[in-house]
Amino acid sequence: MGDNGKPSVGIFGLTGCAGCQLNILNIEDHLLDILNLVDITTWVMAKQENSEGPWDVAFVEGSVAKKSEIERVKKIREKSGVLVAIGACATHGGLPGLRNFRDISEMTQIVYGENNDHIDAIPIKPVSAYVDVDYELPGCPMEKTEFLEIVKSLVMGKRPYSAQYSVCGECKALENICLLKEGKFCMGPVTQAGCNALCPSNGAVCEGCRGPAPEANWAAEVKILKKIGATPEDVRRKFLKYCPSVAEMPEFKELEF
Ligand code: SF4
Ligand code: SF4
Ligand code: SF4
Repeated sequence: MGDNGKPSVGIFGLTGCAGCQLNILNIEDHLLDILNLVDITTWVMAKQENSEGPWDVAFVEGSVAKKSEIERVKKIREKSGVLVAIGACATHGGLPGLRNFRDISEMTQIVYGENNDHIDAIPIKPVSAYVDVDYELPGCPMEKTEFLEIVKSLVMGKRPYSAQYSVCGECKALENICLLKEGKFCMGPVTQAGCNALCPSNGAVCEGCRGPAPEANWAAEVKILKKIGATPEDVRRKFLKYCPSVAEMPEFKELEF
């Protein structure tokens, strides 16, 4: 608990664009309500004075991309009652995972030149690759409404709600015209719902930023994408673009592209 008897919260950033933390700052209409419920004792992006913990709840944004971040996330875990990974980088590796498509030493040399001994880059992984994660808020960025829901649930001691179906479920409920039928490479059938089909509702394909939907039929998605013209490499990259951690899943390894 914080000094004022409210649950203490720490908000942390690893490797990412900081857009998920910014999204918390952007919940202007509810930020004061959140501060009435919890005591944010650590948030370097928003506070001048920050506690070293412990915290009742830690929200961790960003992927683990450096050796030093492994130690950092382990320390946060040790000092936190509940750890919530926020955003695709933290839940699935996210866009920084595009780096995994190339050789890491070659990339380090291209970006930093010969004098790169101080760079401790490692393959991009999600937070759960190194520590236990209690809850995940996927998406790039994470949904503000889901952040509010989880704060409320944790304060009330309730298990947060998580949609257990695909983006297609939301998209069809909104009566959108299916983009797959227009020959566009939509990842909605295999992507976890929760964004209210944001992209298809605005005429853009789902890029899979919320990660795999439970029990999604990946083989069927591969078949459909190839049938409408995607190359095997297009399909493979679609699955991994936001979610490099998918490459480690047995279902992915068994896929025929
Ligand atoms: S999930 Fe997206 S918005 Fe959030 S930190 Fe990563 S890149 Fe930025
Ligand atoms: S547009 Fe995409 S998300 Fe919507 S129903 Fe078609 S495949 Fe599913
Ligand atoms: S529609 Fe797909 S890409 Fe767009 S926000 Fe939702 S999960 Fe992410």
